[in-house]
Amino acid sequence: ADDEGYNEYLYKILVVGDIGTGKTSIIKRFVHNIFSMHYKSTIGVDFALKVINWDPKTEVRLQLWDIAGQERFGSMTRVYYKEAVGAMITFDVTRMSTFEAVAKWKADIDSKVTYGADEKPIPVVLLANKCDLGKDAFIKTANDMDKYCKDNGFIGWFETSAKENMNIEKAARFLVDHILKND
Ligand code: GDP
Ligand code: MG
Repeated sequence: ADDEGYNEYLYKILVVGDIGTGKTSIIKRFVHNIFSMHYKSTIGVDFALKVINWDPKTEVRLQLWDIAGQERFGSMTRVYYKEAVGAMITFDVTRMSTFEAVAKWKADIDSKVTYGADEKPIPVVLLANKCDLGKDAFIKTANDMDKYCKDNGFIGWFETSAKENMNIEKAARFLVDHILKND
């Protein structure tokens, strides 16, 4: 905070989940408002910065960490997760296996990054992506998803579509709201 009471925050946010679930697409939509069917999955780590004018006195800068290529190992190094204050875990509503992998990603995050002196888990939001392909979806009822989130320590879940630009902004704001409350 400066003298005028203006606050700027920089938050590292992890975006993880199985390959092809839409991590890169979600980030590109959120940051640049674009969508393509063809993002190359280049090996390595990509960053994107999204600035949110949260309110007249608060600016939030989200540094979004996109993984590429390492998804197949189902885990990341501790160094990669370091100092993250929030995460999004994605799955593809048309592929059950990607939902089954969610628990593994959550456990990976919880075991490698915490915040605060009392080492609490960082807030994680679950994104049920490609909901525009609803006709093929296996996704459970909203009640089941709510229960899943409660049982597995997610702060919440959203049906998203990077293609149709659905709920991505909303999910991010929900996450930021939790992070700000932790600060
Ligand atoms: P990543 O491997 O998790 O980064 O996934 P990508 O962002 O590369 O997306 C994998 C494929 O799914 C690409 O062909 C995307 O165009 C497609 N895709 C991503 N999000 C959506 C979505 O919301 N709806 C649909 N229909 N396709 C999507
Ligand atoms: Mg990608």
